[in-house]
Amino acid sequence: MANISRRDMLKMSIVGASSLALSSVNANASENEKDIKFDEEWDVVIIGSGFAGLAAGVTAAKRGNKVLVLEKMGRVGGNSVINGGGFAVPNNPLQKKEGVKDSDELFINDCLKAGLNINHLELLQTIAERAKDTFNLTLECGTEYYDKLSHLGGHSVPRTINTKNGSGSGIVHPMVAAFEKIPNTEIRKRTKFDDFILETNKVVGVKVKENYKFDQKLIDDDNENTSGEIKFIKAKKGVILASGGFCNDLFFRQLQDPRLGVNTDTTNHPGATAGGLISALKIGAAPVHLSWIQFGPWACPDEPGFGVGTKFNSGASFRFGISVNPKTGKRYMNELADRKIRSDAMFKVIGDDKNYPINLCDSQVLQHTDPERINKPLKTGILKQFNTLEELAEFYNIPKADFLETVKKYNEFVKNQKDLDFGKPLSLATTKGVNISKPPFYAMRGTPKLHHTMGGVKINTKAQVLDINDNPIPGFYAAGEVTGGTHGASRLGSCAILDCLTFGMIAGENI
Ligand code: ADP
Repeated sequence: MANISRRDMLKMSIVGASSLALSSVNANASENEKDIKFDEEWDVVIIGSGFAGLAAGVTAAKRGNKVLVLEKMGRVGGNSVINGGGFAVPNNPLQKKEGVKDSDELFINDCLKAGLNINHLELLQTIAERAKDTFNLTLECGTEYYDKLSHLGGHSVPRTINTKNGSGSGIVHPMVAAFEKIPNTEIRKRTKFDDFILETNKVVGVKVKENYKFDQKLIDDDNENTSGEIKFIKAKKGVILASGGFCNDLFFRQLQDPRLGVNTDTTNHPGATAGGLISALKIGAAPVHLSWIQFGPWACPDEPGFGVGTKFNSGASFRFGISVNPKTGKRYMNELADRKIRSDAMFKVIGDDKNYPINLCDSQVLQHTDPERINKPLKTGILKQFNTLEELAEFYNIPKADFLETVKKYNEFVKNQKDLDFGKPLSLATTKGVNISKPPFYAMRGTPKLHHTMGGVKINTKAQVLDINDNPIPGFYAAGEVTGGTHGASRLGSCAILDCLTFGMIAGENI
């Protein structure tokens, strides 16, 4: 097994794959500072231009550092720029406006419950404590927010603020502009970080390839490093790893969770691969929770990747409506449970015969959420509009009488603010009194898709990367999805923005 390639691995049986050890993954040693000549010198080098890398960049640059951000793709923003733009901020100003009571303790307990209590508590506490500063950082950079809260699954109260344009790009683009306005900064695209340069065990620079052309096929075939010209870049104050997660690394994700097949669809951008993480592990970073890989339950099987179905399900149908099994016409889960509980329940319904659940709500949602959550998926055709519930049932081949009974029962639960079947939170703050009665009705087929890798390198509350003996590796910081621990087994929706930006900001403060 020693020299197994990515291609061999993908061809192997699932059972055989599980016995591979990490040591078989291209285990080259990192380069030593004495053996190379640096081509350039910066104070801080950041790997990745998503939420984490940009927050680190703005923060470090504002402190007078000369900062270079490396991005291997032809565009900035990784998963962050295609993210849904939901930002969990406990105790936020919109909660005050809408009369929602929240606290850091409530937020932390919600995260611990979803995370099965294996969260690294000090990291969770840090994102709760710094949430306000992080939110302010986005405002300073120019992000504009929508004026109504969302209530996402697993949160016990509505606490999610949304960007005005309904996308993470509403944070990424202003942050890129703010960063580039600061003197002595640069974002260098098509430049791939390949390895760390060490002075004994201290990170003092990086080896990169400029003019790199990302090609998913080459990565799967083990030839990732063929394009581009090699350069050595010195980082006087250190390197911040912000290379994101690995949901699109077919080899590495299956290495961690052998149940994941090559055809399992993901919401992630093509460059969400594990190279940066593997380089960090090779220089001694401690790994945490690598095999906890999360499905997002709000995707749609009728479009590839993240798509626009997510907008409807996470902001409209799950909060203001229901999800039913088309074979029975009945609900089968708490539509506002955490992601893992919902994904597991949906997979049971989907089974082997692709019996995708139907997620639905009525037109009252238009008064309580961004209308684009309906308009965008309607435009692409994945969301259907019906004048009656009977028409909806006929279209999806749902047993009519049972379905109408389900809706009637759910409407009773909304009226009494109590879901006697699945315990979905139905307080007035969450439902705004919206039941399923006012035409037109909207419906979409739903499915979970691979979304977030919980695991990564272990950092402390200063965003320093820790080695296996719990000591900071000198000159080495990390933030965002490439780190592990904050969310434990399963991350709550809209906590990625909080986590990535906060630890990015902290890395930028401390480096
Ligand atoms: P996060 O949400 O943690 O900030 P993102 O996925 O938004 O993560 O951003 C990570 C970015 O890092 C992506 O744009 C990705 O293309 C980039 N990246 C990943 N690996 C490398 C690498 N080896 N060299 C340069 N950039 C990388």
